[in-house]
Amino acid sequence: MKRRKFIERSSLSLAGIGLGSQLIPSQLFAMPSQNRVNPIAVATWNFQNATKMAGTMLESGASALDAVEKGVMVEEANLKNTTVGDGGAPDRDGNVTLDACIMSPDGNAGSVVYLKEIAHPVSVARKVMEETPHVMLAGEGALQFAIQQGFKRKILLTEDSEKAWKEWLEHKEYQPIINIENHDTIGMLCLDENGDIAGACTTSGLSYKMNGRVGDSPIIGAGLFLDNEVGGAVGTGMGEAIMKSVGSFLIVELMRQGKSPQEACEEAVMRTVKKAPNYKDFQIAYVAMNKKGEIGSYCIHKGFSYAKFYNGESTNNPSKSYLEK
Ligand code: ASP
Repeated sequence: MKRRKFIERSSLSLAGIGLGSQLIPSQLFAMPSQNRVNPIAVATWNFQNATKMAGTMLESGASALDAVEKGVMVEEANLKNTTVGDGGAPDRDGNVTLDACIMSPDGNAGSVVYLKEIAHPVSVARKVMEETPHVMLAGEGALQFAIQQGFKRKILLTEDSEKAWKEWLEHKEYQPIINIENHDTIGMLCLDENGDIAGACTTSGLSYKMNGRVGDSPIIGAGLFLDNEVGGAVGTGMGEAIMKSVGSFLIVELMRQGKSPQEACEEAVMRTVKKAPNYKDFQIAYVAMNKKGEIGSYCIHKGFSYAKFYNGESTNNPSKSYLEK
């Protein structure tokens, strides 16, 4: 329940049972204002339009869940971003397939994978969370569910991404590209004024991936995990490496054991570095935030940053990296 509504309802019900007059009004209202938290929105990469949207909503009292959904939707709608939502690069057969997930402070989660023709997969993921007994819907079933829920079908392959795909077909080199010009998957964490954390992650996955491939982004624990008692984490980069280490879950558990968000992100990246002999050939990056609003981030290759909105100010923050060059 939203804090303001809770206050209204508690004071009304106290009055209703005749206790209102025994309590000094300041006692009723002091506690929530003391507990009020300065909201924060953080996201992978320099997606400041998204964190501004979420941060502004949080500052006007929105819940972390509403803010995180609307925040990542900014990038899903951005046709210039070819790795998220509408306008996302297709797989090698020309299909635009989207993956997304969302988690609420109560630990609930929803996810869609291999979703075609729906521009806002994060909102479908939220519907899966709220309207079904399931966590994840895939492919045709996810599309059918989205349509039942009132989402409109849309061709997501733009002229530009079709042209780029056709050019790619001429060479067909399947190489993951590091840092892809700072336009990548968006993973976002929001801390609202009640101190609750929600998160979301949405992507079109690796450009020209194999048909059917699903990465880390919609996998709870890999591309996103949070526990409202501890904090949350989001990942971006080579999804296969993030999935193999269940990176976001690992970070939250390390924070639970007392590590700072920065230390936890560093340890998660180091797990991959130690286990994958070819770690120099790909990028992975994490952003984490704990309940105090402390933020950390770490990646393999230099060039990753995270966007943040806090106290009315929007910033882009370069991340520390394992490799300096
Ligand atoms: N993690 C995403 C995936 O593997 C890609 C990305 O972050 O750009 O699907």
